[in-house]
Amino acid sequence: MDDIYFEHTISVGQVVNLKTKVNRAFNSSMEVGIHVTSEDLCNGKEWKVCQAFATFVAQPQGNKKVKLKPVTPVTEEEHLEHSIAAERRRMRLVHTDNIKDLLTRSTQQDERSLERGMNGEVLAQKTRVESVELVLPPHANHQGNTFGGQIMAWMENIATIAASRLCHAHPTLKVIEMFHFRGPSQVGDRLILKAIVNNSFKDSMEVGVCAEAFCHDVDVPRRHINSAFMTFVVLDENNHQCILSRIKPEPGDGERRYREAIARRKIRLDRKYVISCKQSEMPLSVPWDPCNQVYLSYNNVSALKMLVSKTDWVLASEINKVRLYTLEDGKFLSFKVEIIISVDARETFNLLSDLSRRSEWDKYYKECQLLQQVNEDDAIYHVVSTVSSTEGKHQDFVILACRRPPCDVGDPYVVAFRSVTLPTYPPRAEYTRGETLCSGFCIWSQGPRTKVTYYNQFTPGLVSQVTTNISGLSSDFANTYQSCEQFLIKNTMDSNQP
Ligand code: ADP
Repeated sequence: MDDIYFEHTISVGQVVNLKTKVNRAFNSSMEVGIHVTSEDLCNGKEWKVCQAFATFVAQPQGNKKVKLKPVTPVTEEEHLEHSIAAERRRMRLVHTDNIKDLLTRSTQQDERSLERGMNGEVLAQKTRVESVELVLPPHANHQGNTFGGQIMAWMENIATIAASRLCHAHPTLKVIEMFHFRGPSQVGDRLILKAIVNNSFKDSMEVGVCAEAFCHDVDVPRRHINSAFMTFVVLDENNHQCILSRIKPEPGDGERRYREAIARRKIRLDRKYVISCKQSEMPLSVPWDPCNQVYLSYNNVSALKMLVSKTDWVLASEINKVRLYTLEDGKFLSFKVEIIISVDARETFNLLSDLSRRSEWDKYYKECQLLQQVNEDDAIYHVVSTVSSTEGKHQDFVILACRRPPCDVGDPYVVAFRSVTLPTYPPRAEYTRGETLCSGFCIWSQGPRTKVTYYNQFTPGLVSQVTTNISGLSSDFANTYQSCEQFLIKNTMDSNQP
């Protein structure tokens, strides 16, 4: 289950609408998207409550490996979800290690600042709750496995009780953090659920819940089913969040969880900011830091995939087989340049994703230096452009480049770029720091040929300059992408020489 942010509560007497579908099938796992809205029958108003992504796994029958049938997206929205599902999967696969790494890294930070302005102090052990549930047939699916949703409901129940022991009021659940079910539990199992408030922050608190299963045979050890972290708030009659009491953790594990809750909160806020911000609200250059690195890459790749999935591109010109398309979307103007070449898609991908070679074909690239290799597929570069700013200095950019090979047959290769702020590489006097919102390549293998498209979303300030010079731009793009093709041909010929 990915993070779930509850934007509204649903009251008794209101209608809940749930829409769900499989966004994408991978090998044996699939991503299911769930969209929940609530509807007031008296005035007909409807509002979003939350969106969730659940991963289901098809269990093999016998020893045969499962290969799910692919889902074929049809609408623009389905194409987008299908394409971004691969990026979400990537994020999930690194989630556990990433969180572990961040927790050890950031629990040393100063935590006193978070405590200012809070009421009183409650001993953590006063909020401790334990319960045991017997799994009965109505709690389980046809295979006899307990429904994940049933376990979540039990977990939320006891977490709510733990939370109310801190605030002595009815708490409201705001967030459930990404977690996974480690293994199934069956009819006849007893589930032991344990919850405690790990920390409280001015107007929100984190409750941790741990679920374990055991069967009637006392010799069989307990199985850890899952652990979840939930954030609760207390709302007053005006829907404002109330100030909460401070928690006094127990020494040992309690203090460790107290510190880890602070770190998780920081990670969560960063992640929420990077992932959920609409592009138009997002400052162009988001500061890069280890806490948000995974989410910035997700944001970078998904923003490009969003452009790729758009269907209303308009062909603006075609010069020497280089096609230029435009797309107007609210206050954004985007361009797409398309060429079809006879170079292998993978080689094209390898050459184009190495930004340090771009100056060999793109006359707007003066220099490019690798600043940080974040991981195998993500890197941060410093780029100096040949274009001068109004101050007469060259523009420079700090760019996060993410390369993604196809997740499955039929997927394109993707290379996404966006500006980031690197604290260790601030703007320098000799350059004017420029920013790029979203750009990159999408490379499709089409039999013996390869279709390369370059996308660029212009920042709002540039739109008028660009639209007044569309013909200049067309011939410029045509020249640049012809050089790009020459560069690709030359370099693949070189690499094919014995
Ligand atoms: P961790 O202890 O590293 O946080 P666990 O999976 O052991 O991870 O537990 C998850 C959460 O469940 C804890 O953070 C805590 O809030 C709650 N929890 C675990 N054990 C207990 C317990 N014995 N009593 C109450 N709550 C518990």
